[in-house]
Amino acid sequence: MQQPVAIAQDLVLVGGGHAHVHVLKSFGMRPMRGVRLTLIARDVETPYSGMLPGWVAGHYDFDECHIDLGRLARFAGARLIRDEAIGIDRSHRVVSCRAHPPIRWDFLSLDIGSAPRADDVPGAAEHAISVKPIAQFAARWEALLARARRTARLRLAVIGGGAGGVELALSAQYRLVQMCGSAVEVTLVTRDALLPSHNTRIRNLFEHILAERGITIVSRSLVVRVDNGVLVCADGRRIPFDEALWVTEAAAAPWLANTGLVLTDAGFVAIDETLRSPTDARIFAAGDIATMLAHPREKAGVYAVRQGPPLAANLRRALAGEPLRRAIPQRRGLALIGTGDKHAVASRGPFAAHGAYLWQLKDWIDRRWMWRYRELPQMQPEPGEEPMRCGGCAAKVPAAVLGRVIERLRPAGNEAVAIGLDRPDDAALITFPGAPPLLQTVDFFRAMVSDPYLFGQIAANHALNDIYAMGALPDTALAIATLPPARPEIVEHDLYHMLKGALDVLDGAGAALVGGHSAEGAELALGFAVTGRAPSGARLLRKSGLRTGDCLILTKPLGTGVILAAEGRALAPAKAVEDAIAAMLQPAAAAAECLAAHRATACTDVTGFGLLGHLMEMLGASEMDAVLDPNAIPVLNGALALTAQGITSSLHTDNLAAFGALDDAAQSHPLAPLLIDPQTAGGLLAGLPAERARCCLAELRDHGYRAALIGRAERRAGTRPRVRMAAGAAAAQPEPVVAS
Ligand SMILES: Cc1cc2nc3c(=O)[nH]c(=O)nc-3n(C[C@H](O)[C@H](O)[C@H](O)COP(=O)(O)OP(=O)(O)OC[C@H]3O[C@@H](n4cnc5c(N)ncnc54)[C@H](O)[C@@H]3O)c2cc1C
Repeated sequence: MQQPVAIAQDLVLVGGGHAHVHVLKSFGMRPMRGVRLTLIARDVETPYSGMLPGWVAGHYDFDECHIDLGRLARFAGARLIRDEAIGIDRSHRVVSCRAHPPIRWDFLSLDIGSAPRADDVPGAAEHAISVKPIAQFAARWEALLARARRTARLRLAVIGGGAGGVELALSAQYRLVQMCGSAVEVTLVTRDALLPSHNTRIRNLFEHILAERGITIVSRSLVVRVDNGVLVCADGRRIPFDEALWVTEAAAAPWLANTGLVLTDAGFVAIDETLRSPTDARIFAAGDIATMLAHPREKAGVYAVRQGPPLAANLRRALAGEPLRRAIPQRRGLALIGTGDKHAVASRGPFAAHGAYLWQLKDWIDRRWMWRYRELPQMQPEPGEEPMRCGGCAAKVPAAVLGRVIERLRPAGNEAVAIGLDRPDDAALITFPGAPPLLQTVDFFRAMVSDPYLFGQIAANHALNDIYAMGALPDTALAIATLPPARPEIVEHDLYHMLKGALDVLDGAGAALVGGHSAEGAELALGFAVTGRAPSGARLLRKSGLRTGDCLILTKPLGTGVILAAEGRALAPAKAVEDAIAAMLQPAAAAAECLAAHRATACTDVTGFGLLGHLMEMLGASEMDAVLDPNAIPVLNGALALTAQGITSSLHTDNLAAFGALDDAAQSHPLAPLLIDPQTAGGLLAGLPAERARCCLAELRDHGYRAALIGRAERRAGTRPRVRMAAGAAAAQPEPVVAS
C-alpha cells in the first residue's frame, strides 16, 4: 500500500498579491515534500494593478486584469482560506482571521499590499471611493458608471497626485467622456506637486496632458475633510463633487502594529535583504506591505512582481533549513503610466517619453505577466495514477451498486424499526415503547474543499438535510473523521478547524455534538450520524406521498458536482466556486419549515444521485410520473458552461442510469447533465398541492432560497416511473391561496 507523505511543515501565505502569485505557481510546478501550502486571501480574484487603470478606461474586461486565486491555489496544491487576516500571534505561531479559527504556520509570508491612507481625513471613508480594496472599488466604479449614464453632468474629484492618481484621473475621464461627452468635469487634487517622485520633464508632460484633456489640477492643497459632495482643503478651498476617488499615499494595515514585528515609521513591515523580518526568522514579507530597511523603494507593483522569484526561492531555502540569499531591488524601475487613451508615458530617472507605442509596450508586458498566472499547465495524472476523484457527495457509491448490495444482504428489521431498509427514506425511524420515535441518518465523505473549517460547515449542513427532508428537527450528532498523516500539532489544528466549522452549523441548528470517532486516513474526510425527532403534532414527510397534479419545488440551484469537479482540475472560475460554496452553506431548516407549513405531500433532499435520481426515488415510492420544465430548473452560475465543456463529476457515469426515465429529446437537452449532477448539501425537493405552490415559493425566496417551481407530478402511465421535459410545464399553475 502506498503511504502518503506526512505533512511536516505549514507554509502560510497571507494575501494573494503580486509576489505570492509567483510563489504559488512555483510550488505548483515544483512541490516540496512534506510542506503544506496555505493561502489566506480576502479577495479570490486579485487584480493586477498595472491593468487596473486600463479596466477603468474600458480597454480590458474584469477577467483580463484579475487572477483567479482559486484556480492558482488548486494548481499549487495549496489550501485556500477565503478570509481576511487580522492578526499574527507569533508565540503560538497562528494567524487570526475575521471568520476562521486561528490558522497555524511554521513559516509565514505576507503580501497583502497597501491601501490609500484615509483614516486621518474625516469623511473620506464615507464620502469618497477608495481605490483599495480593489474588489470594493470595482463594484463602486460600476455604480459610478451607472450614475454617469443617468445624469446630465458629473463632477469627479480624484484625490492623490502620484502615478496612481494621475493615471486613474486620466483613465476615468477617458471612459466618462466616451459615455457622457462634455458633461464630465474632472478635478485632480494633490497635497504636493504633481508626481513628486518623478523628474521635472515627466511633471511638465503630465501637466500638459491633463490640461489638454480638460482636467483641472489643484496642487499643493491638502484635503482635511470630506463632506457629502464637498472636499474641504486646509487653505479654505471647497471643491464640490458628485463622486470622489481616493488615491492618496499607501498605508499599511493597522493590525500589523500588534504583531510585535519591527515596522517602519509608516507602519510597513521591515524586512532584511533576504525578504525576512529581522524580528522573526520565520516571517517573510514582500510587495507594498514590506519595506527593505537598507534599500527602501516607492510602493509600486513592479517591485512586488520582481520579489516573487527570490521570495519563492528563499521560502524553499528556509523550509529546507538552508542559508538564504539576498534579493536587493533595482534602484529605479521603468514606470509606464497610461493616459487612458491608449497612450502611455515612460519614466525612469531623468528619462521621459510619451506615445501610443509605449501603451502597446505596456499592454504587451502586462498581458504577458497575466498570461503566466491565468494559463496554467493542465494537471495530468502521473502514469498509473488515478484521474482526479471528486469529494463531497460526488464520492458516493453508485445507486445501482448500493441497491444490489442491500438486495443481497436483506438485513432483517425488528420491532423498533418503523422506517428501515425495506422502504428506505432519507432517515430511518426507530420507535421505542413509551418514547417519541427517533429519526436516524448518517453521511460521510471526503473533503470537497481544501479549507477544513469550511468543509466542516458543509459536511454538517449536508448531514442535517436528511432530517429536515423528513420534516423533523435534529437533536444530536456523532462525528466521524479521518485525517491524513501529519505532525500531531497539524492533525490537532485540522481536526479542530473541521469540527469547529461543524459545531458552528450544529449549534445554529440546535443539534448537540455528543461524540464521535477519529482516525488517520489517506484523506481528510468527515461525516455525521444525526438523530432527530418530528416536532410534536407534525407529520413526517416521506418520499412517497406525491399526488397527481402536485407541484414540484426545488429549494436550491443545481451544479455543485460539476463545479467542484472543475475546481479539482483548476478549471472552475472563482465566481462559480463562490456561488457553489454559498449554496452548500445555506441551511435547509427554514426551507423545511416553510414546505411543511404549506402542506408538502412528499420531500427528499437532492444529493449524490442528482435531481433526477432522487426524483425517481420519489416517483417510485409514490407510483407517479413527472413533467419537468427545463427553463424553470435553477442552476448555479457557471455550471452550464462547465457541463458544455464536457466536465463531469466522478459519479456522472453511474448516475447516467437515471436517464432511462427520460425520453430521447430530454436526454439530449443541454440541461440534462445537470439533472444527474451529484449535489453536496443540495436543495430539498418537495411536492406541494398546486394551490399552495406559488405562495410557498414566494416565502422560500423571502428566506433567501433560490427556489423554483420546476414541474408537476403526473399519473403513472406505465410500470416504471417516467419523466417528461416540457417548457412551460411549471408555469401553468393555479393561483395561490393564502397560507394558513
Ligand atoms: C490606480 C492605481 C494604479 C497603479 N498602477 C500601477 C502600475 O501601473 N505599475 C505599478 O508598478 N504599480 C501600480 N500601482 C501600485 C500597485 O497597485 C501596488 O504597488 C501593488 O498592487 C502592490 O502589490 P502587492 O503584491 O504588494 O499587493 P496587492 O496587489 O495590493 O495585493 C494584495 C492582496 O492581498 C489581499 N489582502 C489584503 N489584505 C489582506 C488580509 N488582511 N488578509 C488576506 N488577504 C489580504 C488583497 O485582497 C490582495 O489580493 C497602482 C496603484 C493604483 C492605486
